[in-house]
Amino acid sequence: MIVEPVRAFSDNYIWMILNDIRSHCAIVDPGDAQPVIQWLEREGVEPVAILITHHHGDHVGGVRNLVSRFPGLEVYGPASERIPAITQTLVEGDIVHLGELGLEFSVLDVPGHTAGHIAYLGQGALFCGDTLFAGGCGRVFDGTFQQLCASLKKIRDLPEETLVYCAHEYTLDNLGFAKWVEPDNPELLLRDDHDMALQEKGIPTVPSRLALEKATNPFLRFDVPAVIQRAEQQAGRSLAEACEVFTVLRQWKDSEYD
Ligand SMILES: [Zn+2]
Repeated sequence: MIVEPVRAFSDNYIWMILNDIRSHCAIVDPGDAQPVIQWLEREGVEPVAILITHHHGDHVGGVRNLVSRFPGLEVYGPASERIPAITQTLVEGDIVHLGELGLEFSVLDVPGHTAGHIAYLGQGALFCGDTLFAGGCGRVFDGTFQQLCASLKKIRDLPEETLVYCAHEYTLDNLGFAKWVEPDNPELLLRDDHDMALQEKGIPTVPSRLALEKATNPFLRFDVPAVIQRAEQQAGRSLAEACEVFTVLRQWKDSEYD
């Protein structure tokens, strides 16, 4: 498997999943068709499927144009959200077989950012849309904080070497908030320097490794003593449960950082 980004809007990544001989591909969350079509023409790759994580316009906005341009495309997406031109609805545990690519992905339900958000896991890679970001996580829109916390716990339990392909380049901004939470976390400070150097050269900071997220992303660290302490200080009360810590962090970022 080869994975390459197509950039869209100001900071979206549309991930192109290719077979090793670069003949066919699947397209993850095409919010805009134009940059995808340009990429397909330039690379001479035939698309076979679209994989959608959730219903937001910057993830599905290009679906109709791509389907009319490439009529055989299968469109996979969450069963409980309205996705344009969908041909295959998915729930937790379903397997997506991409025959032409020789690849399979299993489906995880990861609600919270939206109520029906799903992620695709296969070949050591996780395509998680706007659930987990490098250094952060998505906002809560039509899901709940409790759902997003549970979804992030589920992702945290995946193998440490899993590559996290999120849908936006938000990393440096996210790490800024992470430093509010854990100003003395040495791995976080190293990561911040490293990712800043990548961005200065115009290189994506995504994908990241789950092990690095667990070491530096406050939204996967809601049961680390220093993080609990910081969240309790922010809340002005003691927090009995990990998901309360998570909620305080997410609301703090929403109200004072973003
Ligand atoms: Zn979204």
